[in-house]
Amino acid sequence: MEDCMLSGPEWCGRFPGSASVDDLLPDFAGRVRAFLAALKAGGARVRIAATFRPPERAFLMHWAWQVAHAGHDPAAIPRRKTIPIAWLHRDAKGRADIAVSRAAAAAMVRRYGIRFAPALTSRHTQRRAVDMAVGWTGTLALRDAAGQLRPIATGPRTGSNRALIEIGAGYGVRKLVRDPPHWSDDGH
Ligand SMILES: [Zn+2]
Repeated sequence: MEDCMLSGPEWCGRFPGSASVDDLLPDFAGRVRAFLAALKAGGARVRIAATFRPPERAFLMHWAWQVAHAGHDPAAIPRRKTIPIAWLHRDAKGRADIAVSRAAAAAMVRRYGIRFAPALTSRHTQRRAVDMAVGWTGTLALRDAAGQLRPIATGPRTGSNRALIEIGAGYGVRKLVRDPPHWSDDGH
């Protein structure tokens, strides 16, 4: 491919992800806003790390991981017209250089901050998920979706709190328990 750019961390700034609630599907965004408002009114601190992830970004993250850490052949990765990346690096004589190819993909993995194999499609690419850190001190004076005050005095004082997860579900913001910061419209 003539116009391709070799893989490497330069790619990571392309197709940036969003941390704005405005980039979620409108219905889900409304649910998230209501839940966030209740959290803040109750005394919680919330920091949103990610909402929408462009499919192109998910593609790059997925395949960078596969080449760097799963032994995938850098010459055998599906091509996408909108993403002119060359995963296979070559040496000065034009021979495939697998070690350099894997190192370049690993540099992308580090720049993205990936710790687990990323999926090609997820609730983030579908605008249906939010990653956020939630914390508070003392008792969280949280109102549920019906407006009822339901103070949370039990721990942990994080997004993994069982009572918090139950109240969040009432707002239509559901926890994926094994992924600490991750909430979505259906818990996936
Ligand atoms: Zn997530």
